[in-house]
Amino acid sequence: MARETKAQRHERMREQYIRLIELYPVAQCSLHHRNEWELLVATVMSAQTTDERVNSVTPELFDRYPDAQALAQAQLWDVENIIRPVGFYHMKALHIIELSQALVERFDGVVPHTMDELTTLPGVGRKTANVVLGDAFHLPGFPVDTHVKRVTSRLRWHTQWRKTNPDPVEIEKQVTAEFPPEWWADVSHRLIFFGRNICHARNPECEVCPLASTCPAAPQFLAQKAEKEARKKYAAQRKALKGQRESLR
Ligand code: SF4
Repeated sequence: MARETKAQRHERMREQYIRLIELYPVAQCSLHHRNEWELLVATVMSAQTTDERVNSVTPELFDRYPDAQALAQAQLWDVENIIRPVGFYHMKALHIIELSQALVERFDGVVPHTMDELTTLPGVGRKTANVVLGDAFHLPGFPVDTHVKRVTSRLRWHTQWRKTNPDPVEIEKQVTAEFPPEWWADVSHRLIFFGRNICHARNPECEVCPLASTCPAAPQFLAQKAEKEARKKYAAQRKALKGQRESLR
């Protein structure tokens, strides 16, 4: 791919994002929640598991513990039993109880709506805070998860794309500079949907990807796939030939 100017990259990012809008007209958080507290707790539990798993435990959890005051007084074993399906349940149960206690002690049980305050809460990092800002408070928030990292690197939406583990804060800074703040949460949602459904970590579906014609990583992935197919075909031909030879003996 020829070297791009900043303006050309901006133009390409906007065009690629329009294709993502066409692909996913509805962009929304896939963690079920009825208020900012439920979203905060659900997001903390969503680390290293699927949103579906989290959604499978939150109805019982929020039925038993409807607010921060209730969860702050919960027994650890009881919370562990409820959230067991999400994995790492010892640590996550402790985090959401401590988080609720901190909310009660320092914020009267009300979820704060600034990055600085949110990230003082136990178990709440920048990614979780951005989810809460964008999806609960409808403030600018651009969560950078593993899908956002991978997809934005392949699309060269930031200058850290060569790194195996690019800095999420730098990705957030560079990508959000290209979109209006009111779009940030939806840009992140669409990148996550796209990373889950098409631009997979192991085997991206470049052959059916609507961004392939403008994706800098596509030629390399397509060439690797073509080589793999050719090797498979060659191995099948050799096997067939061997079978023919043996039948002639
Ligand atoms: S062309 Fe391939 S690598 Fe590029 S965005 Fe699409 S699926 Fe991902």
